[in-house]
Amino acid sequence: MLPLDFIDLIEPQMGLELDSFCRSLQQEPVTSVRINDKADLNLPWAGRVPWCQDGWYLHERPQFTLDPLLHAGCYYVQEASSMFVEHILNTCLKPDSLVLDLCAAPGGKSTLISQWLGHEGLLVSNEVVRQRVFILSENIQKWGNGNTVVTHNRPADFGQRLPNLFDCVLVDAPCSGEGMFRKDTKAVDEWSLRNVEMCARRQQDILMDVWDTLKPGGLLIYSTCTFNQKEDEDNTRFIIEHLGADLLHVPLQKEWGITETLGYHFYPHKTRGEGFYIAVLRKHEEHYQPLKIRGEKKKTAVPVECEQELRTWLKHPDEWALRQEDRFSIAYPVRYKELIDFLSTRLTCISTGFGVGEMRGKSPAPQHALAMAKDFCQDKFTSISLSLDKALAYLRCEAITLTDQPFGVLLLTYQDIPLGFAKNIGNHCNNLYPKEWRIRIL
Ligand code: SAM
Repeated sequence: MLPLDFIDLIEPQMGLELDSFCRSLQQEPVTSVRINDKADLNLPWAGRVPWCQDGWYLHERPQFTLDPLLHAGCYYVQEASSMFVEHILNTCLKPDSLVLDLCAAPGGKSTLISQWLGHEGLLVSNEVVRQRVFILSENIQKWGNGNTVVTHNRPADFGQRLPNLFDCVLVDAPCSGEGMFRKDTKAVDEWSLRNVEMCARRQQDILMDVWDTLKPGGLLIYSTCTFNQKEDEDNTRFIIEHLGADLLHVPLQKEWGITETLGYHFYPHKTRGEGFYIAVLRKHEEHYQPLKIRGEKKKTAVPVECEQELRTWLKHPDEWALRQEDRFSIAYPVRYKELIDFLSTRLTCISTGFGVGEMRGKSPAPQHALAMAKDFCQDKFTSISLSLDKALAYLRCEAITLTDQPFGVLLLTYQDIPLGFAKNIGNHCNNLYPKEWRIRIL
């Protein structure tokens, strides 16, 4: 049952479409995934998401958790409407950009942006809520681009410590979640007019706090998964009038069924996806002082005797800078080395680029994130292909036995896609899959 106050609030906005809109909120949600360019997948597709090159609808919702390819980062289960971010990026941004995804967990839009930026750009993917930042980091590592720094900071940390830095800031704001009504009954139970007001105020606070980190002339993408105008159009108007920006238009195709107001609404009775709102704005141009980038803390170099070996594990070793954090060697884009070193002095960085090796005695052992990375040079390890049952046992962190295989570190794959490492010690293998990522259902 939809809350009566919600129907009253939305009625003027929907006019004659109110009935079909409300009916669509009682229907089953649409299932869609976005595939990673590291995989060539063959799922039971039910058509393309028209505004996103790698987005696909599925006929039904499979039990994704039992598909090893999900855990290998071959695709991300993402609601179709929010993939519209890709269409906006194609229209309004260049790939050699510095992008901040401010409210990023669990990482749907961040994995999309990281794929879109590829080798050319850099993404800072931030989450303020501590319990959510680890799933964000996990999803980023599984996606495997290595062009992302995951941070755990308040919006004001960016505005105050990093003025005029980013070419693009995405604020996918926490909201009253009306667009989630048919996916999540909790969203219906928790909805109230008071909560709408509270969310709208919090969204304005977030926008004000982060605003100064966006360069003049830079792009602000503001989105929510809610329908009401207080959190959507009113806040877009707030950005235009109080913060100082112009609204941008992106080309649409009529058959997408997207409703253009001050921004774009995805209403489920018209568009194939869940409820979503997004607006694109350009911050007014003005003369500004670019932020001085200097790495203030000296970074620890990887031990020389290991560096050569670590670099042989990468397909394009020259594209990566390496540094040591405790026992771990991490790789991050060499073209952004100075900036990333600088960011680590200003922000709480949870993960940077991807982990390559871990010092065990004198020589390095590969880290799990290496197996997920797109730049991983797979042939440097002996690969063992696993059956579905064995792959799931591995992903549950169970002990597995591999008979007649060489001793030492082995790369385990499923349908030729790396799942992670194990160490064969003869009578059994030490399972090196990260414990905190293991599948918990049987
Ligand atoms: N962008 C994500 C994605 O595509 O997977 C979804 C983000 S969700 C709509 C909003 C996020 O904002 C949540 O992860 C939430 O923890 C975070 N958040 C909550 N309060 C916040 C605040 N005051 N400032 C910034 N982010 C906040």
